[in-house]
Amino acid sequence: SQEPQITPWEAEAFVDYEKLIRIFGAKPLTDNEIELLRKVTGELHLMIRRRIFYSHRDLDKWIEAYISGRRCALYTGRGPSGHTHLGHILPWIFTKWLQDKLGVDLFFQMTDDEKFWHSEEKSYEEINAYAYENILDLAALGLDPRKTHVIIDSEDIAFLYPIAIKIAKKITLSTQKATFGFTDSTNIGMIFYPTLQIAVAYFPTELYGEPTEVLIPAGIDQDPYWRIARDLAPSLGYPKPTQIHCKLLPGLDIGGKMSASKPETAIYTTDPPEIAKQKVMKGYTGGQPTAELQKKLGGNPDICPIYKMYEMIFEEDDKKLNERYYACKTGKLLCGECKAELAERVAQFLKQHQQKREKARDYIEKYLIRTKF
Ligand code: SF4
Repeated sequence: SQEPQITPWEAEAFVDYEKLIRIFGAKPLTDNEIELLRKVTGELHLMIRRRIFYSHRDLDKWIEAYISGRRCALYTGRGPSGHTHLGHILPWIFTKWLQDKLGVDLFFQMTDDEKFWHSEEKSYEEINAYAYENILDLAALGLDPRKTHVIIDSEDIAFLYPIAIKIAKKITLSTQKATFGFTDSTNIGMIFYPTLQIAVAYFPTELYGEPTEVLIPAGIDQDPYWRIARDLAPSLGYPKPTQIHCKLLPGLDIGGKMSASKPETAIYTTDPPEIAKQKVMKGYTGGQPTAELQKKLGGNPDICPIYKMYEMIFEEDDKKLNERYYACKTGKLLCGECKAELAERVAQFLKQHQQKREKARDYIEKYLIRTKF
């Protein structure tokens, strides 16, 4: 059968995640790591309980390092090619929770360089401006500015470059081609870029002047970078970065992840709430073509992006989520009602998020690494 399509630039949702774990050589999240996490956080986030974060590399070792008092940090990021949508904030919500529970610093990379090199039509200036817009979303989600350090690649390169040159010397063109699918027509910016994404995984060790264990919560589509980062770490004198991978939030149509290439299927944090509601109401579902058939045969929440939105973000309560699942399966719940309820929750979330987003314009610089170190 065909291998699932997962590279940092192309990814499906509803893929066979078990198969991905095997292909990437990661490990499924087991009770062992979950219990360790509970031990240090006191409770479990819904994204852990529901295995939205479902696979890892050395998460157990990272938590043990934390417990033993070694220095730990978090690292995640964003390619600021446009406004933020709900698929982007999924790992940020979890990262914020970890930061709150554990009190560790988060390094957040804005890869404006990568997005410019990768984009066919957007200018560097436009993409760089989106980096600042995207920081407003971090603020609106409540990430602590004292512990959240944003690195905008094109402006903060001095923090990364001394590390990147060492990484660059160890990566060959053939590794780049094999890992990222680069070809002879790939521009050389893209070919250099992975050194910068990897550099942030080592950066906390340089900044603090002591070995720092870095945990990276991110979508599994970013995994190719971390495989190289782990391979190179020992020879460069850094601890191997550890990962916890999340599933991708599906878009509101059939099959793909929520993606900027299909804006009508993605809910942006900047969408007017009424527009977002309309997108939800027009969304694809796992339901039957008519209400009569739905009542008779039931729907299929397992392939339904509306259900996934509840499961991954908008329903905190496990019992209520379970009730929705069975009401759908048994035909007691109709898609119109189910979508209308989600549309309302999404609109409420956006209203509050957008107010906080606007307020954050006054203190955005508190997130910038260059104002702190
Ligand atoms: Fe999806 Fe809800 Fe319809 Fe079930 S009832 S298929 S969960 S929209």
